Amino acid sequence: MPASRKRSQHDPVRVLLVEDNRADYLFTRALLNAIEEGTYQLDWVSTFAEGARELARGTHDIYLLDYRLDDGNGLDLLKQAIDGGCRKPMILLTAYGDDDIDLQAIRAGAADYMMKGEFDSRLLERAIRYAIGRAETAEALRLSEERYSLAAHGATDAIWDWDLKAKQLYLSPRWKTMFGLSTEDGKMGDASEWFSRVHVADRKAISNAVRRHLKGETPHFEFEFRLRHEEGGYRWVTARGLAVRDRNGWTTRMAGSVTDTTERTVQHHQLRAILASMVEGVVAVDGDARVMHINTVGSEMLGTAGKRIQGQAISTASQLIEADRMLRRTLDEGRSLRSEAFVSVEGSDRVYELRSAPLRPVEDELLPGAVMVMHDITELRRLEQLQREFVANVSHELQTPLAAVLGMVDTLIDDDEMDPAKKQSYLQRIGAQSTRLSTLVSDLLTLSRAESREHRAERRDVDLAQIGADSARMLSPRFKGKQLAFKVVLPDSPLMVEGTEELLRQVVDNLLTNALKYTPEGGQVWLRLQAHNAQALLWLRLQAHNAQALLEVEDTGLGIAPEHQGRIFERFYRVDKARSRAAGGTGLGLAIIKHAVLSLEGHVSVESTPGRGSTFRIRLPLRELSGPHRPAKQVSP
Ligand code: ADP
Repeated sequence: MPASRKRSQHDPVRVLLVEDNRADYLFTRALLNAIEEGTYQLDWVSTFAEGARELARGTHDIYLLDYRLDDGNGLDLLKQAIDGGCRKPMILLTAYGDDDIDLQAIRAGAADYMMKGEFDSRLLERAIRYAIGRAETAEALRLSEERYSLAAHGATDAIWDWDLKAKQLYLSPRWKTMFGLSTEDGKMGDASEWFSRVHVADRKAISNAVRRHLKGETPHFEFEFRLRHEEGGYRWVTARGLAVRDRNGWTTRMAGSVTDTTERTVQHHQLRAILASMVEGVVAVDGDARVMHINTVGSEMLGTAGKRIQGQAISTASQLIEADRMLRRTLDEGRSLRSEAFVSVEGSDRVYELRSAPLRPVEDELLPGAVMVMHDITELRRLEQLQREFVANVSHELQTPLAAVLGMVDTLIDDDEMDPAKKQSYLQRIGAQSTRLSTLVSDLLTLSRAESREHRAERRDVDLAQIGADSARMLSPRFKGKQLAFKVVLPDSPLMVEGTEELLRQVVDNLLTNALKYTPEGGQVWLRLQAHNAQALLWLRLQAHNAQALLEVEDTGLGIAPEHQGRIFERFYRVDKARSRAAGGTGLGLAIIKHAVLSLEGHVSVESTPGRGSTFRIRLPLRELSGPHRPAKQVSP
């Protein structure tokens, strides 16, 4: 089929007549010449064979076919032409007596039929004009449908067209390959089946987007949602579309396309989840220092939580001047920077470490901008400060007895005629200071062990009841010596906890020696050990049941004022330094207890009233009971 050229209004209408009767040809020519509007160029062939050839060439605008031809008939010619792909209009000319041919002609695809001798110029003109008009419209429609079909088949997007009047949803073939959605000829009865495949969580957003568009708030709608695949599982989809309205403004159709964005969306969501889960704050800005992305921690650190700051200049969005300064410098100089910022957050001073870097190209594509990672290092700085103070304290604690020892040794060396009694006293004092030094060093080592990882690795199941009994027995003479009533309440079955014997012994010893040190003569001290919530452990044999060993040391001593209670567990913290020293304390006993107990997932607390006494309580997770637990009873130490 040669490509048909579109006819302009001023071109003559090219008519081909297939007619074996010369008189009829001349008559037709006369009729055409008589038409006033437009010009007609009439060509004439007289046989079926010539007609078929011309129709195959298809260079005329319209064909007039006589029904009765010498070598065939016009109806067959018409059918043959249509089968050959001819889409030009054809009018069948019949003679008197060919009655039922007219209907057959129309069914076969004729544009019209006319009875010879019954039409004049006017009728012929109208028939030709209508036939050509209809054919052009049909051809335009066919081409447009063909274009749509090609586009719909070839597109990577799936196309939909929802005719609200006909209640018909048309889906392009891509729906089948993309979502396994099969339809009958691309049609679906209505949109409800389609909608039932949309993820429940996304349905509202879709309705909202469409509603906004229908209200005229948006030129088209666009939304992201999840669509269930025929074979299960959801695909992420971005849909775009618009509504078509009729002259009265009623929406009659909605159409658009959907793109499968699963891979991109999943990646995007993964990236967002990763950023949102980071303990560091992350903020990324574009080349103009406008916020592209900020994670949750970043928003909290920059004081912008709950606000949408995307697209805003970082300087206006946040109070943290240092962040803005660094990001701008990174953008200007194209290099990584590090800095610290001091911020007051809800009344507490915090230190942030800020690190910025220019964005790196991804797959050769450079996105201008910079990223900043913010790390709250307040705790780190606090620990560093504690470390410094600790070193200073240790040096000081060592210095004092050492200076005393050195001083006395010098005196002894210089004065070789020293009175023996005085000499003896000097040597005793040197001995006492050396013991103090040794105790201090030993406590420091114990503290360091309590904090170390090796100690964790050495943990075994240990019987705390046994340790309590041993400690009580060892210290009992000292209680007697200070006229203190010492009462010990122990369970008569083992109390197994996980730990190292050495550290646990130290814990019990430290508590008892403190009670001994800080309870004046005539007072009273209790050591109590018992299982707590042990029944659950016994029946269910599960550790998760909060079964604990509870160790209590209570005294009727000096007590500790509330303002000191929170600090006595710090290293070298003493309520009364002189008293502690005089009693041989190093100020490390409770710090050792705290670290040892914490490392065993335990808990330590104090309850105290100045002038009345103190109770220290330690709870440690209980491992197992060897048999039914019997209540603790008092024993003699
Ligand atoms: P120290 O060697 O000074 O006893 P600790 O770390 O054992 O060091 O205790 C810290 C401080 O807590 C003590 O100096 C003392 O002021 C206070 N303290 C500890 N135990 C008691 C207690 N049982 N009664 C009163 N004060 C106590």
